[in-house]
Amino acid sequence: MEYSKKDLIKDLQKMGLKAGDICVVRSSLRNIGKISGGKRSAVFLDALFETVGKKGTIVMLTFTDQYQLPLDPDDPKQIFTRDKPTNSGGLSAECLSRPDAIRSSHPINSYCAIGSDAHFILDGHDAKSSCFDPIGKVIEKKGKMLIIGILYSSPGFTTVHWAQWKLGLSTKSKYKNKLGAYYIDETGQKQEFLRKDIGGCSMGFSKFYDHYRKAGILVEGTVGDAPSMLVDAKKALDVELALIKKDPNFPFCDNPGCKTCRIGWEFSKTSPIIFYLRNPKKIYSLIFKRSLL
Ligand SMILES: [Zn+2]
Repeated sequence: MEYSKKDLIKDLQKMGLKAGDICVVRSSLRNIGKISGGKRSAVFLDALFETVGKKGTIVMLTFTDQYQLPLDPDDPKQIFTRDKPTNSGGLSAECLSRPDAIRSSHPINSYCAIGSDAHFILDGHDAKSSCFDPIGKVIEKKGKMLIIGILYSSPGFTTVHWAQWKLGLSTKSKYKNKLGAYYIDETGQKQEFLRKDIGGCSMGFSKFYDHYRKAGILVEGTVGDAPSMLVDAKKALDVELALIKKDPNFPFCDNPGCKTCRIGWEFSKTSPIIFYLRNPKKIYSLIFKRSLL
C-alpha cells in the first residue's frame, strides 16, 4: 500500500489531530510505509502542517550530539550552531530545513517548531534553560503529543522527562556536569556548556501506556502502516507525575545491563557492585572510561 498526503491527513485526523493544535511529533518514517507524491519526509511533514493548519504549530526534537568531558576545543563538530545536524531522525531534519522553521539554541537539546506558537514555545530555550523547557510551554498551551511507528523502539512521550524535571530528579543524574558541548554566546564568544539536567534512558517509557489507557486519555491507531499514539500533554503529565512521585525508578527500563537505569541516578536501586558483577563486560568501560553511558 502506498499513502498519499491526503491519506496521511485522514489518518492524522482519525488520531485526533485537529486544525489549530500544537503538537510535539516523534516518528519513524520508515514504519509509515511507502509515501507517494515526493520525498517521504517532505510529504509527511506537509501532511502534518495541513492537518493543524496555519493556526496550529508542529514541534519536533532536534537534539544534537553531546560529548564527554574534557571537550575538545579544536573539534568544530562539538560546537552547536543553528545548522548543526540533528540526531533526532529524518522528519526532524526535514523540519529544520524549512525556511520558516525556528530552532531553539539549547546546545544539546534544541527543538524545532513551525507555526503560530513556535516563538512562544522556543524563544529563550538556550544554554541557561533546562533541556525540556519547550515541553512545559506546550503543556501550558494545551498541546498534544504524537508518536508514530516508534511505540517500542523509542517508546513514550517526552512529557515523562518534563515530569522528572518538575520533581527535581533530572539534576540527580550521576552524569550531571560530565557531558557537554560548545555554543556561541550572544557576544560571539565560544562557551563551554555542561549539562546539568539529564533525561536519561527512555526505553522503559512504554510502561506508562497501560496507565494512560486506564485514565482514558490515550488515542491509539495507525498513520500509514505505523502503530501510533496521541495524548493531551497535560493529561499525560498528570499520570506520569503520580507514578514517578510514588516511585522515581518507575520509568526505568528492564535491561539489567543498562548503566543509566541501574546505577546512573542518585536514587537508583541497584548497587554498583551488584551491577558490575552482573555485567562483567562493563568493567572494561569503567577502567578505560570508553563510554560514560
Ligand atoms: Zn535503561
